[in-house]
Amino acid sequence: MKNYKKDFPIFQKNKSLVYLDSAATSQKPKFVLDSIIEYYETYNANVRRGLYPIAEKATAKVEEVRKQVARFINAKDPSEIIFVRNATEGINLVAYSLSNDLQKGDVVVSTIMEHHSNFVPWQQLAKIKGAKFEVIDIDKNFQFSISNFQSNPNIKNAKILTITHVSNVLGTINPIREIIKNLKSSIINHKSPVVLVDAAQSIPHMKVDVQDIGCDFLVFSGHKTMASTGIGVLYGKKELLEKMQPFLYGGDMIKEVGIEKTTFADVPYKFEAGTPDIAGIVSLGAAIEYLNKIGMDTIRNHELGIMNYGLERIRKIEGITIYGPQNVADRGGVISFNIHGIHAHDVAQVLGDMGICIRAGHHCAMPLHKRLGISSSVRASFYLYNDEADVDKFIEGIKKAKKIFT
Ligand code: PMP
Repeated sequence: MKNYKKDFPIFQKNKSLVYLDSAATSQKPKFVLDSIIEYYETYNANVRRGLYPIAEKATAKVEEVRKQVARFINAKDPSEIIFVRNATEGINLVAYSLSNDLQKGDVVVSTIMEHHSNFVPWQQLAKIKGAKFEVIDIDKNFQFSISNFQSNPNIKNAKILTITHVSNVLGTINPIREIIKNLKSSIINHKSPVVLVDAAQSIPHMKVDVQDIGCDFLVFSGHKTMASTGIGVLYGKKELLEKMQPFLYGGDMIKEVGIEKTTFADVPYKFEAGTPDIAGIVSLGAAIEYLNKIGMDTIRNHELGIMNYGLERIRKIEGITIYGPQNVADRGGVISFNIHGIHAHDVAQVLGDMGICIRAGHHCAMPLHKRLGISSSVRASFYLYNDEADVDKFIEGIKKAKKIFT
C-alpha cells in the first residue's frame, strides 16, 4: 500500500497522528498549502477589477480554476461552475433561487440519509411554499433501489429531487444515475423534476461525471477535497442557471445599476456577489491538480483496500453493530458503528486520548439516526493518506474502549 503521508505536512509534524475524520474535513497536501502562500506572496489582488498585472494574474487564475473544476466533473461549460463557500451554501442558493417555481401542493423529494445541509433547506422551502416534503426510506441493507422511489405515491409529481451521492454516515454509494434516469422518465403530471446531487462525500474520493449522472445541480466542498476551508462549488446546467434569480445581491453580480432598476451579470457571475475566496479558489485548483496527478481511480482503489481491511478487522470484534451496506464496493470510505452498551462519545474519548481522531454523534444526520433507532454513532472515515497501520491503531482503540467500559 503506497504511503501518501509524506505529501502532508501535518503527518510530518505529528508522526503519531491517526486522522480518521476526513468525512468532516480533509488534511491538505504541501502542494496545496504552497499554492496559497504563492498567491498571497506574489499576486495577491482583488479579481475582476484592477488593470494592473497582479490583479490580471489573480483574475486569470480564478477563471483557470473554473475551467479546471469544469473538466474535473465533466461540466459542458466553465460558466456552469459557481464558486460558493461550501456545499451548504450551494444547496441554499439553489433552494432559494428555485423558490419562485414552487407552488402549493408541489412535491419536493429528499431521502432519509441526507446530511442536514441537504435536508433542512428543502424541508423549510416546502413549508414556506405549502409544498409536500417526501422522504424516501432506505432498505434493510442501508441502500436505495429504484423501487424505494417508485413505491412512493407522490413521486410522479416530484418537482425537485435532492439526494446525496454518498452518505456521510452509512457510506452508501447511491445509484444516482439510475435513480435520476428513472425519475426523469417516469413523471406523468409534470415536466421532469429538477435534481440536485450532494456530492460532498463523493467528489473527493471517486470520479464524478455530471453529464453521465444526468443531474441538474451538484454541490461539493473544497475543504473535504484537500483544498482550504471557505471554498465550495455549485454546478448547474446553464439553461437553468440563466432562468434563476440571484441568491445574493451586491458588487460584481450586476450588469447595470440605476435608481429604479438593476440588471444582473451573466452566469456564473450573477451568483457570485462580492469578493470571492480567491486564496480558496487557488487552493482548489492545486487540490484538483494533486488529485488528478494521483488519479481518482487510484484514490478509490486505495480507499477500497483500507475499507476491506478495516471492515474485515472490525467485523471480528464481538458486540459491534456496523451501519451501512455489507458489500465494500457499495461504500465510500466511511465506517459508522456502535459498541453495545458503550456510548459513542465514550468510545471517541478513549480513541481521542490515544491520538486517534474519529467522530461521535449524529454527524448532522438526525433523521437517519432516528430511523436507525439510535441517538449517536461512532464514525471513522478514510482518505488517501490513511494506511493499514492507521486501521490497526483504530482497532486497538476499540478493543481498549471495550475493556474499559464493559
Ligand atoms: N453533505 C454531506 C453529505 C456532508 O457530509 C457534509 C459535511 N459533513 C455537507 C453536506 C456539508 O458540507 P459543508 O459543511 O462543507 O457545507
